[in-house]
Amino acid sequence: MNDKIWLSSPHMGGGEMKYVQEAYDTNWVAPLGKNVNMFEAKLADYTGASYASALSSGTSAIHLALVLLGIGQEDEVIVQSFTFSASANPVTYVGATPVFVDSEEDTWNMCPIALRKAIEDRIAKGKVPKAIIPVHLYGMPAKMDEILSVANDFNIPVIEDAAEALGSSYKNKRMGTWGHLGVLSFNGNKIITTSGGGALLSDDRELIDKSRFLATQARDEAPHYEHSHIGFNYRMSNILAGIGCGQMEVLGSHIEKRRSNNKWYQEILGNTEGINFQKEPNEDYYSNFWLSSINIDPTKCGFTREELRLKFESANIESRPLWKPMHLQPVFKGFPFYSTGVSEKLFENGLCLPSGSNMTSSERDRIERVLSEMLNN
Ligand SMILES: *Cc1c(COP(=O)(O)O)cnc(C)c1O
Repeated sequence: MNDKIWLSSPHMGGGEMKYVQEAYDTNWVAPLGKNVNMFEAKLADYTGASYASALSSGTSAIHLALVLLGIGQEDEVIVQSFTFSASANPVTYVGATPVFVDSEEDTWNMCPIALRKAIEDRIAKGKVPKAIIPVHLYGMPAKMDEILSVANDFNIPVIEDAAEALGSSYKNKRMGTWGHLGVLSFNGNKIITTSGGGALLSDDRELIDKSRFLATQARDEAPHYEHSHIGFNYRMSNILAGIGCGQMEVLGSHIEKRRSNNKWYQEILGNTEGINFQKEPNEDYYSNFWLSSINIDPTKCGFTREELRLKFESANIESRPLWKPMHLQPVFKGFPFYSTGVSEKLFENGLCLPSGSNMTSSERDRIERVLSEMLNN
C-alpha cells in the first residue's frame, strides 16, 4: 500500500529547532519568554497588525475576543454558518447565542446582504447583535469592506476568523487585520503550525494587553496572587512559539506551494463541465489557498462528490467534504439562521482536495491518476 497522502499535514522548515533549542538551553520552558515575544513581533510585522498576542489555540483566541468585547449571557453573536465548529463554539462558552448567516456565491463566505437582513431582523425582534464573526474559508477572503460597512452602520464590532487565511489578503490588506480583532490558528493542519496554537491581532493596544493579562490567569499587580477578573490559561508556551518563529521563515514558500497546488488542480480539472473551483473573484482577492476546494455537479460531470472521495480513499489519499454548515449541525439545531441557499448546496457537492505544501511530485502523480480515471470513466 502506498503511503497516505494527507489533506494538509504539518510541514517543518528546518529552522524551528534552533529556537526550541535556545528555549531549552536557557530553561525558558514556560508560557513566557523570548520566543513568545519574537513570534508576536513577527506576526504583527507580517500581517501589518499593530499588535499580536500568542495564545494556546485559535479557539481560545475567539473565546478571549468575545470576553474582551464584554459579551455574555442573553447576548447574540452573528457567525458565518459555513465554517468549522470552532468559529461558533466559543459563543456558547460565554453563554451567548449564535445567530447563523449564510454565504454568497463568489467567495463562499458570509453574504453581506444576508448579514444586513439578519441584523435588521434581530433588532426588530428586540436585540442588537454584539459581534459579527466572518470567516475566510480555506483561505479565501470574505468581502470584508462590505461586511465592515454593514457592521459600522449598526456599530457592531467584527471578530475576523482568519484561522485558515494567514497570508491571504483583500485589496492589499492582510486577513486578520480587517476586523476589530483578528484570529489566527497554528493547529497542525494549518498553513503554518506550532503543533497547537493561536493568536489575536488588533490595532487596539489595550485589547491586546488585556488579552495577555486574561490569558495568564488575570493576575493583578501584587506580591501575592490578587484577582479582580476571571482569568484563563490560554497563553502560548515559549517552546511552541519557537516552532512558530521557525515556521514564519517558511510561510512565504508554503503559500507559494499551496497556490501552485491550486493552479495545478485548475489545469487538470478547470475545463471539466460540472466542476467549479472556489476561485478568487478578481484581483482584489489573494487567497493562500490553504485548501483547494471544488464543487461537483454530478448531472454534468457524471460522478458525485462521494464517488470521487471514495476513489481517493481507496488509493489511500485523504480528501474531505466541505465544512457542514453550523445551521445543519445537531448541536446548533433551532438557532436562528438567515439563508441564501448557498452553503447547503456547496456542502452537498463540495470536496477539499489534498493541498499540503509538502506534497511531492510522485504524490501529485498518484492524485492525477485518480482524477484521470474519474474523468475518463
Ligand atoms: C482551525 C480553525 C479554528 C480553530 O483553531 P484551533 O487552533 O484549532 O483551535 C477556528 N476557525 C476556523 C475557521 C478554523 O479553521
